[in-house]
Amino acid sequence: MEAIPSAPRSEHRAAPTTIIVGSGISGLAAAIVLARHGRRPLVIEAHNVPGGCMQMFSRRAGDGTLCRFDAGVHYVGSLGAGQLMWRLFRYLGVEVPTRAMNRECFDRVYLPGGDFCVPVGWDATGMALTRECPGEAATVATYIARMKQVEASLNWHALAPEADGAYDRGLYEVSIGEYLRSVGAGPRLRSLMLAQSSLYAAPSHAAPLAIHAPVVGSAIQGPHYIVGGGDAITNALLDRLRDLGGGLRTRAPAARVLVEDNRATGVELQDGTVLHAPEVILAMHPRAAQALMPPDAWRGALRERLEAAPECVGLFCVYGVAEGDMGDYSGSNHYLLRDDDPDCFYDPPLRGPADAVVNLPPTSPQLFSAVGAARMEWFGRWQGTRTPRRDPDYRALKQQLTDNIMATVRQHMPGRKLQVVDAATPLTIRDYARYPGGGIYGLQPGMAAQGRNGVRRRTRYAGLYVTGAGTGAPGILGACVTGFAVAGTILGTDALIREVRSTTDVPA
Ligand SMILES: Cc1cc2nc3c(=O)[nH]c(=O)nc-3n(C[C@H](O)[C@H](O)[C@H](O)COP(=O)(O)OP(=O)(O)OC[C@H]3O[C@@H](n4cnc5c(N)ncnc54)[C@H](O)[C@@H]3O)c2cc1C
Repeated sequence: MEAIPSAPRSEHRAAPTTIIVGSGISGLAAAIVLARHGRRPLVIEAHNVPGGCMQMFSRRAGDGTLCRFDAGVHYVGSLGAGQLMWRLFRYLGVEVPTRAMNRECFDRVYLPGGDFCVPVGWDATGMALTRECPGEAATVATYIARMKQVEASLNWHALAPEADGAYDRGLYEVSIGEYLRSVGAGPRLRSLMLAQSSLYAAPSHAAPLAIHAPVVGSAIQGPHYIVGGGDAITNALLDRLRDLGGGLRTRAPAARVLVEDNRATGVELQDGTVLHAPEVILAMHPRAAQALMPPDAWRGALRERLEAAPECVGLFCVYGVAEGDMGDYSGSNHYLLRDDDPDCFYDPPLRGPADAVVNLPPTSPQLFSAVGAARMEWFGRWQGTRTPRRDPDYRALKQQLTDNIMATVRQHMPGRKLQVVDAATPLTIRDYARYPGGGIYGLQPGMAAQGRNGVRRRTRYAGLYVTGAGTGAPGILGACVTGFAVAGTILGTDALIREVRSTTDVPA
């Protein structure tokens, strides 16, 4: 069994032992795990606000009210007592206030062929799918059993060191589309099984089973709102990090990783400041990480695969305020799809009603967001510009895409007064999260970038590691797992999984 080295808490070192570049959940989780094991981590963040996609922002509505919107935390899965996200927060030592979602219908799917409510739990979902497609009970049972089996075979997901799915070609090289064809799912059943694919933002031919099962599964098994939004998670993690002796430095964009004699020695910031540490973790988009490392940090084959790996479809998100009672709409997410084939989400129209996932959290009543897709190419003219300096044509395009999304939303929520406050484009996520392609979750979590072919957390330089959603699965849970996984790479994976498991077990 691998041993986890630990150092006494009282050992106070002024210089950091570990520099973590990026203050998203993966970076903060890795920092806390390492701090619990005697390291003294310093997290550095390019932006003036920590949290990466967990950051929130304020805008004034038409009547002057200040509204605080979430950028990337609308709901989080596996937060029921004893479930994975709940356990990871518990291990990290943070209490994040949550509120369970509507058990009968946490996600509501709207397709031309009819609406469908996704209930909480794989078994309840199986029953609902069978009621909807009664002739396909056996296919539904096969699908649900396979999803559970995939989840159980992923070591971090199942907190089972012995689980050996990480290198299983059957999980990473079979797409969910191919799998559904192989089990003979009919068109309606296929539509319903794929309808939540925007949770990982990859079309059915590109999303491996090892992404579909844990991402959709964690939503299905324990969907919760975060009371206080992304700030509640970021602040809790930062308080805990400081209690453990770690630090945070914002407005500190890293320019390059420093290496000597095949070892990491620190990071140079864009202003020329040099920070020394024997360990460096890049907690960010893999392409952004690659740009900071020496070119040979990953072997050539991996560099070539990464070069060819696609980005997620670009993000377009409308933020607004609902007037009056939103009744049944609040408390569920609404997947509004134009076509019975949910892959339509990845082919957004430049003009006309567009697909959207609408979120109306009762934890911030009256605020809504509607996430859709946009092509980065549409924004080619403004690639070299920053927000305040963009011209009227940019604002006109933004208005057009807002109208596309709101046309769909208004069609599905007739008679509701919905006031748009602002919108984010792929350039917004490029600039705020530093996702080079402006993709919803950065690198597309597809067949070319996962599993045996995936981005490696280790590099050829001792002490230099990479983590973040792009090294595993997207989402707060997926990215948090990658933070634990990189800490496991340093401390010993099996021992860390066992420690997380034993310290967070809930009595039966
Ligand atoms: C619109 C939207 C909605 C979402 N909704 C949900 C949801 O409802 N539920 C859910 O679970 N997930 C959701 N997600 C996904 C989830 O928020 C992300 O997958 C997750 O937070 C990513 O975490 P991360 O640690 O990988 O990195 P990020 O959060 O991307 O953080 C990376 C950080 O690294 C910093 N950085 C990059 N380069 C440098 C550098 N050179 N120097 C210093 N710092 C640098 C960046 O500024 C950034 O702060 C959503 C995402 C988006 C965009």
